[in-house]
Amino acid sequence: MSAMFTDEQVMIRDMAQKFARDQLLPHSDAWDRDSHFPVDVIKSAAELGFAGIYVKDDVGGSGLTRTDAALIFEQLAYGDVSTAAFISIHNMASWMIDTFGSDALRQEWVPRLTSMELIASYCLTEPGAGSDAASLKTRAVKDGDAYVITGTKQFISGAGVSDVYVLMARTSDDGAKGVSAFIIEKGTPGLSFGANERKMGWKSQPTAQVILDGVRVPAANRIGEEGHGFKFAMAGLDGGRLNIAACALGGAQLALDKAVEYAKERMQFGKALAEFQSMQFKLADMETELQAARVMLYEAAGRLDGKTPDATRWCAMAKRFVTDTAFKVANDALQVHGGYGYLADYGVERIVRDLRVHQILEGTNEIMRVIISRDMLKG
Ligand SMILES: Cc1cc2nc3c(=O)[nH]c(=O)nc-3n(C[C@H](O)[C@H](O)[C@H](O)COP(=O)(O)OP(=O)(O)OC[C@H]3O[C@@H](n4cnc5c(N)ncnc54)[C@H](O)[C@@H]3O)c2cc1C
Repeated sequence: MSAMFTDEQVMIRDMAQKFARDQLLPHSDAWDRDSHFPVDVIKSAAELGFAGIYVKDDVGGSGLTRTDAALIFEQLAYGDVSTAAFISIHNMASWMIDTFGSDALRQEWVPRLTSMELIASYCLTEPGAGSDAASLKTRAVKDGDAYVITGTKQFISGAGVSDVYVLMARTSDDGAKGVSAFIIEKGTPGLSFGANERKMGWKSQPTAQVILDGVRVPAANRIGEEGHGFKFAMAGLDGGRLNIAACALGGAQLALDKAVEYAKERMQFGKALAEFQSMQFKLADMETELQAARVMLYEAAGRLDGKTPDATRWCAMAKRFVTDTAFKVANDALQVHGGYGYLADYGVERIVRDLRVHQILEGTNEIMRVIISRDMLKG
């Protein structure tokens, strides 16, 4: 581990590693095969403080940094990418309430989120508003001391199982400035869910539509000021993108470790694959590229912790670079395994399938380039 980390961070990393290797890794293939959402195991992560990693401690959070979070998610994803990524989304939603909600709202919701008595989803995307998220159409109309919300959210991780939905809806027609954020509880009349999507990876967590048909939400459940929701959603994504990148890194590291072991064991042409120089060079490139991605991730996390003015750009650069590199390394690890890499029993094809979506969600890697270049060319 890099000398840049403190003893406390090494301890946090080791704790996450132990949890991942004991509680996640032995089950990851079965959860993928059976599309099983391991809610009980996810809840046990809360006992280690992983449900509110960078949430303040007066509401049960761990009060840790984004760098700590990256260390934790990298380890969790080594155990299971898909489950780790869901825990990341729960953290993002909880952080939004903790950071932007009123004290009353924080006290009411966050302790139950940090203990994982309640599980949270983050609802921004709509069928007609993906990359152009600010064009969202779900509408929240004020009615006395409540808002009545109608619309459809698309691709929501945890939909149908989560207890709490942090949801962005339009309170005026003023573009991104007309969006507000709300807490919506499962069971509220008018709230329903689409069918669980059949998808390539991330099978250990459900993805579905969240459908709102005249859902009446107390005005007190609005997070922060009216019209500030889009800003909050984007702030959540800065850290979310680092976590998604950290999860990609953890998955790719497992794939690389498997490739190294396999290359040493597999005999062809009378020698181990690892004895061919082209194979040695391939493994060397995989290691170098993954370490470069790791350095970039921790640089970006440090900037977000330090609240530097270029933190958003760095989070976008890290998300783009780390997820692309991790996918390539995992795919190369599959190639090292030859035909066996294509079989589920070797556990590498699952990682490739799981990592593919990291290049798409929390802003596609093309949108990361939009964010980076916009910041470079401004002024
Ligand atoms: C498994 C899964 C889980 C998800 N979980 C959640 C969740 O929990 N909550 C949530 O809110 N959302 C979630 N999403 C949604 C995800 O964030 C979106 O899929 C993503 O933002 C892209 O939106 P889109 O799919 O509508 O693609 P589109 O925006 O339609 O993009 C299609 C293609 O066009 C490209 N493109 C679009 N605009 C530009 C541009 N200006 N310049 C260049 N290229 C461009 C994109 O990069 C992409 O390649 C999830 C998605 C998946 C697949």
